[in-house]
Amino acid sequence: MKRIAFTMVVSAMALVGCKGPVDSNDQQTDGFEYSNERFADLQMLRYKVEGFENLTLKQKTFIYYLSEAALYGRDILYDQNGRYNLRIRYILESIYTNDAVDHESEDFKAMEIYLKRVWFSNGIHHHYGCEKFVPGFSEEWLRDAWAKVDAKEKVSIDIDEICPVIFNPDIMAKRVNLAEGEDLIATSACNYYQGVTQKEAEDFYLAEKAKGDPEHPVMFGMNSRLVKDSDGNIVEKRWVSDGLYGQAITKIVEYLLKARDYAEDELQKSVIDKLVEYYRTGNLHTFDEYSILWVENTKPLVDFTNGFIECYGDPLGLKCSWEAIVNFKDVEATKRTETLSKNAQWFEDNSPVDSRFKKENVKGISAKVINAAILGGDLFPSTAIGINLPNSDWVRKEHGSKSVTIGNLTDAYNKAAGSGMRNEFCYSQEDINMLNKYADITDDLHTDLHECLGHGSGKLLPGVDGDSLKAYGSTIEEARADLFGLYYVADPKLVELGLIPDADAYKAQYYSYMMNGLMTQLVRINLGNNIEEAHMRNRALIAHWCYEKGKADKVVELVKKDGKTFVKINDYEKLRQLFGKLLAEIQRVKSEGDFLGAQKLVETYGVKIDSALHKEVLERYNKLNLAPYKGFINPVYTPVFDKDGKITDVKIDYTETYADQMLRYSHAYRTLPLINE
Ligand code: ZN
Repeated sequence: MKRIAFTMVVSAMALVGCKGPVDSNDQQTDGFEYSNERFADLQMLRYKVEGFENLTLKQKTFIYYLSEAALYGRDILYDQNGRYNLRIRYILESIYTNDAVDHESEDFKAMEIYLKRVWFSNGIHHHYGCEKFVPGFSEEWLRDAWAKVDAKEKVSIDIDEICPVIFNPDIMAKRVNLAEGEDLIATSACNYYQGVTQKEAEDFYLAEKAKGDPEHPVMFGMNSRLVKDSDGNIVEKRWVSDGLYGQAITKIVEYLLKARDYAEDELQKSVIDKLVEYYRTGNLHTFDEYSILWVENTKPLVDFTNGFIECYGDPLGLKCSWEAIVNFKDVEATKRTETLSKNAQWFEDNSPVDSRFKKENVKGISAKVINAAILGGDLFPSTAIGINLPNSDWVRKEHGSKSVTIGNLTDAYNKAAGSGMRNEFCYSQEDINMLNKYADITDDLHTDLHECLGHGSGKLLPGVDGDSLKAYGSTIEEARADLFGLYYVADPKLVELGLIPDADAYKAQYYSYMMNGLMTQLVRINLGNNIEEAHMRNRALIAHWCYEKGKADKVVELVKKDGKTFVKINDYEKLRQLFGKLLAEIQRVKSEGDFLGAQKLVETYGVKIDSALHKEVLERYNKLNLAPYKGFINPVYTPVFDKDGKITDVKIDYTETYADQMLRYSHAYRTLPLINE
């Protein structure tokens, strides 16, 4: 994959491990309703924007305009995820809101769930597993219901073209296919390439790269669709104001410029100016300049990301999906990560990694805890709980990066979490008690270590290409950051720094990590499938490797009790040594660009699933009747204007329902034509 460093630390779903979702009667403590509706494999939550009311009017207004810019890109992601998604969303919403259709029929109810899943995934494929949804309603019913929609509203949609996309399981079966040995472009439904083969795309970008500056390479391909023109030439269609997605980008730019007047300092204004320039030109050097300004702009309380950022949605790892987040600093919690950052060099120097791969000067880690104010694009409704940007390796090396933990989202997961998973999957009551006591703290700390130190640690040997691990790159990178966190969460240094209550607390993280990696994360995979997603592969890799290598000493065991399998950890100190050993090996693989080493590790430990265990885990999990994935409903910001059109206050409200929010977004922030080239 292209990127060395990744944004999405622990994806929202990562938390499932020990902190399973809850049924809605397992409610929270502070009067705020964190859990909301539940459908399919999804649980909707709300997050509280702690401290919004205490911001200044200027800051609130800034957040309001930035949040509008964050919502105007929504259609882009739908189209990136699949070329029919916007049309399918439109068809389903038209039927959903049509009173002439019987809302009580079984087909309608099945369609409602399907539509809610489409909203959740920003398309017709599962947001995590990438497989196409199986509709629970019939094609006949859909055609009939569409026929009842007013002719004027049907625009130029051809239902005959759409039906096979929804109903034929062989068409666009996977959004992103990473299976070895197939043409990954031909077999992936995402809309990043048209009419080109994987080989052609790879050759195209190899040639582009060869023309570029090897010391400061731009992220080739990140902001365009690769197509063949009418003469058969391979060309990029850029996502810019006057290009592809131009209608959406124009609105985003309009609101960024409105926000600009309320920026907190001059540097932040220039960050916005640079981003706007990039959105207008599509110039990737401008994007790097923007990233540098953004990294350096650490003073303001309010910050934001808005753009083409993550490459997980492209099987070749080049094209970036659109996403946005607006946030502001949580001053108290930030002290925690600042403590880690201040000591970054100590952690680097004392890690078990070979000294050749260590950074002499770890710099530029700006760690903070933020509260999300709005989520958009590929961060919504399913989201990350930490961010580490920018992705450009040389920018990170020369200018540093920003690492954040999104405190109010983590908090919402914790508050909504129930005890079901722990009670079912922990080996002993002692383990359950340990997790109840420490897991929230150690989980946060592990995320901080992963983000603030893990991704920023280590270096490539001179001459090693950051892309050399190819499709294994993201798994290896996430494993590296996770292992850094696992190794250090047990270090007495953390007690000394006052970050962890006592020397035993780390065991909660070790237990929940091993239980997740060996067993409970399997709840998110259908029986018969392999592990595909990079974060999940990384967790399986770490857990299985340590299980294997510690087998002789019985460090970690899988034991049977009453016919059920449990993870039992016998020797926490030895487990820490194994984490350290694997960290050293993974860093070596990365630093040397050892593709075969990466392939062997990932394919041996991170991909395959023991089907008997998988079946058992699913059965036990299904009995708990929990939702494996969670996502968020955004709050609603309503500005109060005076008679001159100036904002005098911004109100925040948490009562909008999921469906109302989605329908409102589809209406108010609809920017792209339904039939996009
Ligand atoms: Zn990460």
